[in-house]
Amino acid sequence: MNKAELIQQRLPKLLDLMSPCRLCPRNCLVNRLAGETGFCRSTDRIKVASWAHHRGEEPPISGTLGSGTIFASNCTLGCIFCQNFPFSQLGGGKEFSPDKLADIFSKLADEGIHNFNFVTPTHVIPLLLEAWLGASRKAQELPIVYNCSGYESLEVLSLLEGIVDIYIPDIKYADNQVAGQLSQCSDYVENNRATLIEMHRQVGELKLDNNGIATHGLIIRHLVLPHSLAGSRESFNWLKNTLGTQVHISLMSQYFPAHKAHHHEMINRPITADEYVEVLELVENLGFENVWAQDPDEKGGA
Ligand code: SF4
Repeated sequence: MNKAELIQQRLPKLLDLMSPCRLCPRNCLVNRLAGETGFCRSTDRIKVASWAHHRGEEPPISGTLGSGTIFASNCTLGCIFCQNFPFSQLGGGKEFSPDKLADIFSKLADEGIHNFNFVTPTHVIPLLLEAWLGASRKAQELPIVYNCSGYESLEVLSLLEGIVDIYIPDIKYADNQVAGQLSQCSDYVENNRATLIEMHRQVGELKLDNNGIATHGLIIRHLVLPHSLAGSRESFNWLKNTLGTQVHISLMSQYFPAHKAHHHEMINRPITADEYVEVLELVENLGFENVWAQDPDEKGGA
């Protein structure tokens, strides 16, 4: 069965998971198809914050043409330091019909991109796939990237097997108390770990074509936080013991105190170069072989 046939077959089940909504582990159980909203404030209409040829992703994702990012508004987490809070938490963006979104997919494909990169897709994945079905054949031949917080429903993931080509989840925390305080998500750790295991089972290690462009696989992102709040040591030890040291890791240095972080004394400053280098050395010493690092003095970014 090809990807379009798989989506057609599974879309009814995915839409069913919106009513009552169990699209993420919060299981709000609101009837989104009747206009009710849960934690993520999303209804049955897709709202998009932006779309672009994004060149700031990891090199095999952005390549030379850029990654076709579709940035969904709203989010299943509530990070008090979110750099994208006007869209993720304040609801900025524009609603699109499936046909209109399909036109955007087709246009991006015609202009030239390496993949479709669904950013923060968890709460709207049925709607994104419904729109994708209306896109051009050229668009449908591109890999689908699922770029998320790593707080996912295993039932939804099982329905995405064979549809998503590349998963890019975060590993944000190793401590649920911290996850609760900083992201309003006090069951993040167990759900995140189950998510990473399932994604790795589905797609395995990252595969590149002859031009170095990703075609399939997994990249795990980790944003280093001040005062070791991201639990880097515990998370990377878990990753090594669970998924091994071949897994691709993107270690991000860009933390700065956005949104409400200024009011939180533990995260009201950027990370220091020393904090970033400490995590980078940890990852190297644990033996991870496929790591993208950033300039520790780099600030801002996606
Ligand atoms: S997707 Fe939104 S409404 Fe559905 S369970 Fe998650 S937070 Fe709740």
